[in-house]
Parts: sequence; C-alpha cells; structure tokens
Amino acid sequence: MSYRIFDDVFVTGTLVWYVHVCRRETWLMSRSITPYHQHPRLELGRAIDSLHSDRVPITLEGMKIDSFRVEDQTVIEVKTSSRHLESAMAQLNYYLYRLREVGVNARGQVYIPRKGQRIQVTLDEERARRDIEAVKEVVMGELPPPRRIRYCRKCAYRDFCWPLE
Ligand code: SF4
Repeated sequence: MSYRIFDDVFVTGTLVWYVHVCRRETWLMSRSITPYHQHPRLELGRAIDSLHSDRVPITLEGMKIDSFRVEDQTVIEVKTSSRHLESAMAQLNYYLYRLREVGVNARGQVYIPRKGQRIQVTLDEERARRDIEAVKEVVMGELPPPRRIRYCRKCAYRDFCWPLE
C-alpha cells in the first residue's frame, strides 16, 4: 500500500490521530499550516514526550513512534491525557499495521504518565485500512472540512479557525 498522498505528504500516525479528533486539523496539518508553536497544550505534549520517549525511536517513511519495548515487542504511544483515547488507539493501530507490513508483529500500549494508565491495543487491520483511506480522502480535498466545534475551545488552531472571536 502507498502512504504517499502528494510528493511531500504521507499518511502519518499524527494525521490518523487528527482524523479522529477533527478532520479540519488533518487537512491543515497536511498543508503545513501549523498552530501556534508555544500553545500551552503543545508545550505540555512536547515536555511529556521528551520525558517518556526513546532517544532513538523506530522510524518508517511517514511514521515515528515514541517508544519500543524490545522484550515484548511493544510499541508505546505516550499521551498527555485520556481525552482523545480513541484517537490515540487508532494512531497506535496504524503503527502496528505499518510494522506488520515489514514483518514486525508488535503489540501496542497507550501510556498516559500523568495518570499511570496503560491501555493495551491489538492490531485491527480493517480499522487501519479505513483510517488510512479517511486520511487520504481528507488530504486530497481542495478545501478544509467544516469546523468540529466540540473540540475547538482547547484547540491550538482556534485562532486560525475562529479569527473574529
Ligand atoms: S479549532 Fe476547531 S475546527 Fe479548527 S482545527 Fe481545532 S477543533 Fe478543528
């Protein structure tokens, strides 16, 4: 399966994550329209990531995982909270799918350090294929999808999507 959508745009775990949170974010990210870098939520995410991620993570084209535990072949996705747990699980499922393609039969775990929570994820290939197609469909759209108001209040794109507020 090809993960390249345009010359410089790939299906990534981050885009899979965003497609479950807000499809408009997926589209904006794919155009390299990035949110305010010092938004507090982004800073918190980077801080937690730097504390709990490997220095040398596994990478494949268009994907970079946080951590890989060799003993039991577990991919660990670190998140700041459980707010978008379904999205995190879909992102991790995408990584498991990519790894399976290259012969690594890994299991997955979403880790939320602030809660000491670990949620196990096993590969669902059909779901991964659906998510990959959803990302491609959004990214190939000429215009950004409508706003998903439910998540706007705390979103780093808020000033972009709601410029007159
Ligand atoms: S501000 Fe709202 S519509 Fe815009 S990207 Fe964020 S969640 Fe989506």
